[in-house]
Amino acid sequence: MPQRLDRILSECTTYTRSELKRMILRGEITVDGEAARRPEQKVDPDRQEIALLGRPIACGHSYLMMNKPAGFVSATDDPRQKTVLELVPPELRRKSLFPAGRLDKDTEGFLLLTDDGDFAHRILSPKNHVAKTYFARVEGELCADAAARFGAGVTLEDGALCRPAKLEALSPQNGEYRVVLHEGMYHQVKRMFLACGAQVVYLKREAIGELPLDGSLPLGGCRPLDAGELEKIA
Ligand code: URA
Repeated sequence: MPQRLDRILSECTTYTRSELKRMILRGEITVDGEAARRPEQKVDPDRQEIALLGRPIACGHSYLMMNKPAGFVSATDDPRQKTVLELVPPELRRKSLFPAGRLDKDTEGFLLLTDDGDFAHRILSPKNHVAKTYFARVEGELCADAAARFGAGVTLEDGALCRPAKLEALSPQNGEYRVVLHEGMYHQVKRMFLACGAQVVYLKREAIGELPLDGSLPLGGCRPLDAGELEKIA
């Protein structure tokens, strides 16, 4: 349905209406390739392509795959630390974008950002068993029966019992393992390894559900997911 251009853009970007007005007057926003000239111009976002500085804007819910680097917290704002939202390029920012699930500050890899609360709930709820796959490098003496203990459900140091998980030895002489979990307790992978005698020194999430991290995304990079990719998650 046609709506005012500034209204559409204020809902699907983080710019204020006055910033958008200035951008429109500077010719930085195009509709179907033509520079827009008036904020009140009527545009149908389902049929027309709106672009900001040459990059098309997607309206509707947003689902982004990020290759999270270490050093950023999985939060929407933080008074002292850099957040993953700071890595989202302006044309993909939305007012209510949040990370669906957390990776620790020192963990890298696949972080999903969305403004769709129902979808986030679906992938995070342990009831839905969405798999999260991690690559871990560990130091220390991992107990010989670690894979069996992961498979049966590790008991953490505070007594919490984890659901059964899969531990695959990739290169045990180099301390390299793959772990597949179906829940997301606080520092879970690190605490599961600790319970089995080893300390995680590097952790990266490689996949959510059946969707692997796009290997062409650089650390700190982020891109929208398409419908087929979303289906592979949940
Ligand atoms: N488990 C952890 O210990 N840390 C993460 O960031 C994710 C899973």
